[in-house]
Amino acid sequence: MTSEHRSASVTPRHISFFNIPGHGHVNPSLGIVQELVARGHRVSYAITDEFAAQVKAAGATPVVYDSILPKESNPEESWPEDQESAMGLFLDEAVRVLPQLEDAYADDRPDLIVYDIASWPAPVLGRKWDIPFVQLSPTFVAYEGFEEDVPAVQDPTADRGEEAAAPAGTGDAEEGAEAEDGLVRFFTRLSAFLEEHGVDTPATEFLIAPNRCIVALPRTFQIKGDTVGDNYTFVGPTYGDRSHQGTWEGPGDGRPVLLIALGSAFTDHLDFYRTCLSAVDGLDWHVVLSVGRFVDPADLGEVPPNVEVHQWVPQLDILTKASAFITHAGMGSTMEALSNAVPMVAVPQIAEQTMNAERIVELGLGRHIPRDQVTAEKLREAVLAVASDPGVAERLAAVRQEIREAGGARAAADILEGILAEAG
Ligand code: UDP
Repeated sequence: MTSEHRSASVTPRHISFFNIPGHGHVNPSLGIVQELVARGHRVSYAITDEFAAQVKAAGATPVVYDSILPKESNPEESWPEDQESAMGLFLDEAVRVLPQLEDAYADDRPDLIVYDIASWPAPVLGRKWDIPFVQLSPTFVAYEGFEEDVPAVQDPTADRGEEAAAPAGTGDAEEGAEAEDGLVRFFTRLSAFLEEHGVDTPATEFLIAPNRCIVALPRTFQIKGDTVGDNYTFVGPTYGDRSHQGTWEGPGDGRPVLLIALGSAFTDHLDFYRTCLSAVDGLDWHVVLSVGRFVDPADLGEVPPNVEVHQWVPQLDILTKASAFITHAGMGSTMEALSNAVPMVAVPQIAEQTMNAERIVELGLGRHIPRDQVTAEKLREAVLAVASDPGVAERLAAVRQEIREAGGARAAADILEGILAEAG
């Protein structure tokens, strides 16, 4: 995936990635790191110690900060499921991390920052340091009408006239007032944070309207992709080589392979895994079940002989050999499936993943089973249906082709070098 070629006009520079400690956020950046390093640039990477080895393996120098976000090593800590709580947490994190990064980079300012959507210190420091900063979005970006679909990004303290009376989507008056209170508190804090650091961008704009953004999706997958502006470039998935995770050989007996995994964050679902085991019991498929860090495989009970169970698997490698994927439809997993044209049965765990699952269905790339409607029969029927549907296979092949043409990490590195060349 990497290229030895570097355009003659760009001299090697110091490029820094700013991210949060989450696999779904870090993985899409690693291919770009590898590409930039292959082109001769020096890449540093602000991240926690738990992800330092991964970014190092990609060729970057970790700049380790201390975080308040959930840690992999502590099963007691889990990510909030609703967007408002997540945004509050990202703000607390930004307050905690920004001064650490200011110190860490004091004598080694980068020439360019590439930052994840949830790394809020990045666009603040980019402005302070007067250097270019480019967002890398591992998921959907804002489209026309996004604020109505995702009311949590609407600032009720901004002057929006009549509209400001109540957040959209809340029927019950009391609930609406509570949600409004929470949002008022959040946006008041966010605006104060921005003001303290001399950022005069309105809070909602700060959250959803980056100056420049590289989107790690093919444009087809983006909701209302034709309403997204020219400052966004859809390069397709940008994850890199993940050989540090090891490879997966499988039984190699010609049986189709089914992967079942719910990503890295929302995996504490013992009952769901048990239902999956019933669904595949007796099926002439080889099944790989990744249960995550919260569930002890010993608690699953009897495991059918066609199933191997792990707490973590080399997902990307397995997907190159899989015929179907029962997934939570996290965007990283979704992109990894689409790159390999693997049909999906989506069982989303949070609202953001439901949007992805709905998109999978709209585009005819798989099925969606809401988590409260999951049964063994439905799962089994859906897996067999998506894996044998020629229409699904055809549409998946078309998306895989679009992904190949979008250029991925190489296209992203070209954009970043273009920005460096412009900045001089
Ligand atoms: N992943 C993995 N092994 C596993 C489960 C997940 O390597 O057993 C990786 C997966 O390939 C993906 C990431 O973890 O790159 C999960 O990201 P995603 O956006 O799908 O979900 P999140 O973890 O953010 O919910």
